[in-house]
Amino acid sequence: HKKHKVTVVGSGNWGSTIAKVIAENTTANPDLFEEEVQMWVYEEEVKIPKKSRHFHPGVGSLDVPHKLSALINEIHENVKYLPDISLPHNVVANPSLEDSVKDATILIFNMPHQFIPNIAKQIKGKIIPYARGISCIKGIEVSEKRVRLFSEMLGEELGIYCGALSGANVATGVAMERWCGTTVAYDPPPVDSRQPTPEQTPGHSPHGSTIDLTMTAVDGTAKTLKSVNGTKYSKRLQPLPNDYPPLSHENVKKLFHRPYFHVSMVSDVVAVSLGGALKNIVALAAGFLSGLGWDSNSLAEVIRIGLKEEVKFGLMFFGDKGVKAQTFLEESCGVADIITSCIGGRNFRCAKISVEKNMPIDEVERIELNGQKLQGTSTAYEVQKFLTSRNQGSEFPLFTAVYGILEGKYKPDQIPELVEPKDP
Ligand code: NAD
Ligand code: 13P
Repeated sequence: HKKHKVTVVGSGNWGSTIAKVIAENTTANPDLFEEEVQMWVYEEEVKIPKKSRHFHPGVGSLDVPHKLSALINEIHENVKYLPDISLPHNVVANPSLEDSVKDATILIFNMPHQFIPNIAKQIKGKIIPYARGISCIKGIEVSEKRVRLFSEMLGEELGIYCGALSGANVATGVAMERWCGTTVAYDPPPVDSRQPTPEQTPGHSPHGSTIDLTMTAVDGTAKTLKSVNGTKYSKRLQPLPNDYPPLSHENVKKLFHRPYFHVSMVSDVVAVSLGGALKNIVALAAGFLSGLGWDSNSLAEVIRIGLKEEVKFGLMFFGDKGVKAQTFLEESCGVADIITSCIGGRNFRCAKISVEKNMPIDEVERIELNGQKLQGTSTAYEVQKFLTSRNQGSEFPLFTAVYGILEGKYKPDQIPELVEPKDP
């Protein structure tokens, strides 16, 4: 039989880490996956940093600027975005987006969310029509009228099914193989009789959402796939050909699970995607307060209120799509991610420094992150745009306070009064 070919679209701090995780698993599961994992690299010229173990002044060619993709393939390390971590040799960096995705049956989307719409445009129609996706993106796509998960957006734009992976996963820790959990939501419609829905798969999460058969009108021929767990398909979803191993929860788990990276499979694509996106706003609040020197009691309060607003946002705007409060409260993608992000994430760190040094956070991002991107600042604006258009900003006081601070309208020490429940 055929094997799945996996491409990671993105090669930043998390993209490179996930490529490492997946490449270890394609080697470990040769019956399911082709060993080689393509990793699309947004090409740029990089120099080996002086502190890198690969830096040898004056020796060889490594002392001069190199194309990042060629360097990754030569030294098996992403010196710019994931320094000091060896990538397995079966990770192959590819600077051509089209070439990297063209024969992949599994596409892992992993890059800062602002770049996704452009990437989706470029690969539309250039991928295998029966490919499946997993979004590792922490962000949401917002217009004044609607909010979409990136798993939905990618599924709709590319005409494929796209699940989501998210959890308490600060990339460096995962790359150094320090134990943590993660949550993978994979809930494709039953277009393929050999591809059991998660509900039919042994070991599925007991609180995963169920597919609404009336809405999906599944008739075995995949004729009317209107909405599956929030994803609207504009065209027919193609079944996976019979000669590929089925992408059951069990097999999808084998792509991500490592002894140091524990995967919990669920069906709640909404909570997995939203938890990852919204916690970035909360982490900014925690960073602002930490910058003032406030202690763990204040951070715990921010985490509590943030989690409450995450759940409320999910139920209010995705209630019809099978989202469960329980997923936020029990899985890594909810409570655990909000905690780690409010302790050690980049959004937290940059917000803290911006208060300590009285510097705009965009400037801190530029100085501190060496090309890595914050997701919380743009997400705070995007969420606020959506809430304001519905006149619902006051229902999410923490998200709204963070936006106000970024806009210079409020000071971080006003957070307590801004989130104080108002008398009716
Ligand atoms: P990153 O912050 O390291 O971002 C840099 C990446 O963006 C680089 O690969 C760079 O080449 C690329 N890039 C720059 N300009 C681009 C352009 N115009 N078009 C396309 N790509 C461009 O990225 P990351 O940490 O890999 O994050 C990817 C996603 O994973 C984000 O949504 C993030 O929230 C999420 N995430 C990150 C972590 C983490 O600890 N880094 C952990 C979990 C999830
Ligand atoms: P930051 O983007 O704030 O570093 O968060 C990383 C993350 O998502 C941890 O799970």
